[in-house]
Amino acid sequence: MRRTDREIRDPEAIESVIRGADVCRLAFSEAGIPYLVPLCFGYRKGVLYFHSALEGRKLDLIKRKPKVCFEMDMDHVLVRTADRCTMHYRSVIGFGKAALVEDAVEKQEALDLIMHHYHQEPFAYPVATLERTAIIRVEIDEMTGKANGC
Ligand SMILES: Cc1cc2nc3c(=O)[nH]c(=O)nc-3n(C[C@H](O)[C@H](O)[C@H](O)COP(=O)(O)OP(=O)(O)OC[C@H]3O[C@@H](n4cnc5c(N)ncnc54)[C@H](O)[C@@H]3O)c2cc1C
Repeated sequence: MRRTDREIRDPEAIESVIRGADVCRLAFSEAGIPYLVPLCFGYRKGVLYFHSALEGRKLDLIKRKPKVCFEMDMDHVLVRTADRCTMHYRSVIGFGKAALVEDAVEKQEALDLIMHHYHQEPFAYPVATLERTAIIRVEIDEMTGKANGC
């Protein structure tokens, strides 16, 4: 990272960005063509979970090219002074491997984690919802955190 003064080094502080962000951007690459999708997500111990429809471009890519890059950010504050304009933020960028979750128990747990990321109270969804929902698991290989002004 060029601005080492902005690097978040504490793993707990990096995780706090993951816990606080409400959107994760998941990026794929195939034959030199990038593809990025914004998604809701859940997180537990180095693993990100996403829910999805059962088909679509990102699922096709995961099956062929499972290496992904992800990004999330929060605490945006636009700061403007007489001679300077900047954006304060905290962000995380990481790399990992994506796979579709087939195990019914893990699918249920993943959906619970995603719901818990956004809602404090437990959420009861019909069992049939699980059957028409794909769950994506991303095992994180590495990630870095960065903060500007936070
Ligand atoms: C804040 C936010 C949260 C979201 N959360 C979820 C989530 O939790 N789960 C989920 O499945 N989806 C979520 N979406 C929608 C998601 O970004 C994708 O649109 C969706 O997952 C379909 O992706 P796909 O690769 O299957 O696209 P496909 O339906 O296969 O469509 C492919 C083409 O559609 C276009 N496209 C796809 N997505 C978008 C987009 N978001 N904006 C503009 N053009 C697009 C692109 O040109 C792409 O080439 C969210 C979107 C936003 C903005």
